[in-house]
Amino acid sequence: MISFKEARRQVLEQVAPIQEREAVSPVHGLGRVLSNPIPAPANVPNHDNSAMDGYAVAFSDLHPEQQTTFEVVADLPAGDIITDPLQPGQAIRIMTGAPIPPNCDCVVMQEVVNRNNDYITIPGGQQQYQHIRKAGEDISIGDEVLPAGRRLKPADLGLLTSLGISELSVLRRPVVALLSSGNEVIEAGNSIKPGQVYDSNRTSLHTALNALGVDVLDLGVVKDNRNEIERALHRGGEEADAIISSGGVSVGDYDLIKEVLMEWGNIHFWKVAMKPGKPQAYGKLGRALFFGLPGNPVSSLTVFLTIVRPALIRLMGALDEQPQILNVRFKGKFKKKHSRMNFVRGIVHFDATGPWVETTGAQGSGILTSLSKANAFIVMPEELTNINDGDMVKVQLIQYD
Ligand code: AMP
Ligand code: MG
Repeated sequence: MISFKEARRQVLEQVAPIQEREAVSPVHGLGRVLSNPIPAPANVPNHDNSAMDGYAVAFSDLHPEQQTTFEVVADLPAGDIITDPLQPGQAIRIMTGAPIPPNCDCVVMQEVVNRNNDYITIPGGQQQYQHIRKAGEDISIGDEVLPAGRRLKPADLGLLTSLGISELSVLRRPVVALLSSGNEVIEAGNSIKPGQVYDSNRTSLHTALNALGVDVLDLGVVKDNRNEIERALHRGGEEADAIISSGGVSVGDYDLIKEVLMEWGNIHFWKVAMKPGKPQAYGKLGRALFFGLPGNPVSSLTVFLTIVRPALIRLMGALDEQPQILNVRFKGKFKKKHSRMNFVRGIVHFDATGPWVETTGAQGSGILTSLSKANAFIVMPEELTNINDGDMVKVQLIQYD
């Protein structure tokens, strides 16, 4: 049996990131992976500007403690500029975002100013440079704004737009072929006979792939029939960058998928010391990576989240991402009898007492409600057998996107 950490390491090791590029506009860039680092082509903001609606003055004109009177000589909305230098005793009405006029180094917010026709009085105690956003204070020209391999988020895309960038070079999305295997597995919408199960795995995995932002090639359910399996796997190997199957990889299985895989590709069958999710298969089929997940619904999705998803992130050409781990207080009691890494489904509550976690209840590999209710895995390493009320435990937040 191979340890969870070693399995993940070996799976990640065989992934070659996608290289092909394409251009997208920032509004279509969500979840896409940058192919190149982006240096700032300009300062942001590109000029000193006002952070407030108020009045721009020269700080040296202000009396430090007492009020000072100024004549308002111009109005400066955002989008306009003033090039004439300010004379002593003059002020300019300025709006948020408007460039600071020459000779001004202080903005006084309108709420503290008394205005009387064209004159204002400003109280003492103002600071030089107050309410001024300096050019380049967010980004200086030439700074690396985002690294290659960045999976783009909304704030990133706004940031790139703030630099005037209207087209991005991103990596092509991987195509991931998805299939379920087993004679007992049927599509929802059909009536079910004793011994059959609806194909929940394909729905969980398809939508998890959507959330991650890869393209899915849905190969449906393949029966335990040699021709069907060969046809599906062949297609996946030709058209996809990766193939994910569920079911048919356990030991002592009559499932033909294992037989075909052993003949066809360079596939390793592993018992991974994790729960849920012991039987797994990994390797290459044609040019595609192959991920053979167990059939049990909780197992397949848990293995997807903990091993396959990091591998797909690497396949996408993205920088590796660390799982989101917290140490939190455990409420309840939990025992395990095996020495495998256990991913117990848990609910982390974020309330006024600080975060704490409880299990979602029954933990069988077929009990999909355990994962549906969960927002985290309580990670129980091999050697840990008991957790008790009040113990601090390690949780990994469940992240699909
Ligand atoms: P297997 O790994 O093929 O031995 O399957 C283990 C268990 O998972 C069996 O109870 C199967 O019926 C169930 N199973 C296999 N594939 C699926 C699927 N696509 N959706 C839901 N359950 C499945
Ligand atoms: Mg099966």
